[in-house]
Amino acid sequence: MFKSVFLGSCFSLTLLTFNSFAQSSPETVEFAKKIPIADVHMHTYQQNPRSAAWWKEQMDVNGVKWGGAVGDYREDVQAELKDRFIPAIGQIAFFKVFFKDNTRGLIDPENPVFQDLYGRADKLFESGLVKGFGEFHTDNHTSGHPRIRRVIRTDNPAMRKFYAIAERYSGFVQIHAEFDKDFGKDILSLSADFPNVTTVLSHCLSANDANSLALLFSKRTNITCEMSATGEAINRILGLNKSPIAFNSSGPFKDWKKLIESYPDQVMLGTDPCCGADRGYSELISELRANLLPYFSPEIMEKLAYKNAVRIFKLKE
Ligand SMILES: [Zn+2]
Repeated sequence: MFKSVFLGSCFSLTLLTFNSFAQSSPETVEFAKKIPIADVHMHTYQQNPRSAAWWKEQMDVNGVKWGGAVGDYREDVQAELKDRFIPAIGQIAFFKVFFKDNTRGLIDPENPVFQDLYGRADKLFESGLVKGFGEFHTDNHTSGHPRIRRVIRTDNPAMRKFYAIAERYSGFVQIHAEFDKDFGKDILSLSADFPNVTTVLSHCLSANDANSLALLFSKRTNITCEMSATGEAINRILGLNKSPIAFNSSGPFKDWKKLIESYPDQVMLGTDPCCGADRGYSELISELRANLLPYFSPEIMEKLAYKNAVRIFKLKE
């Protein structure tokens, strides 16, 4: 059931794509093949799970040095990956509250499921076992199974408590949302009120709209995004008839190349191996190495591939 519930939840309809004017070089193509990668949207679900050893093997085969930053929080994966794991908590609780109490529950900090989570999270952060929250879907009104679609304000009392906990530990919150005026306002307020929290916007907001991201990045250095589900491979693997959002086999689209070059410290890589896409993990990584990374200078490529993640998630190189 969870499989179908999550199906497509991470994507939204895409807009028209534009021709890329990007160029790669033989040097950057080679560099991109071997650069270490931090996959900051790597789901390791408890439902129909792949073993912790399977994840480690996939990462090793594909040169992915670190992974995680979204749910589920799995102790077995953490034990296997050790400090290569970027542990995040809260995704299961968020779905549980939504199915039981709908959108009203999601904004209520007194909800018993959230109360329990706040308490557990605080202890896990304190002991260093967790570094952030997510993935929290606050607005996926055009994506996913109709049963999981919803829109809530991202700046709400329940979310403020997550940010307050993360603030104490300089942690992160990964949010799946679609851009509109309310979201822009909300995320700017949260990131101003909780300056030590890094917000990671899943799928770089799931639309071909690099300009909205540029606007947010220009105002807050603690707002970042990750590029999972913005290419073609995920659609191919899941059999979805969708256009890519940010890059294709000719490279990144013009606006996206400009975005990354203008804000090279605020964009990271991800794969989103949910809903059965885990079977195509190697293809998802290969696509990043072939169709996105080589179109940037080695310096920017390093930031995009892992250096931003190392800084934001305090990873060991
Ligand atoms: Zn996801």
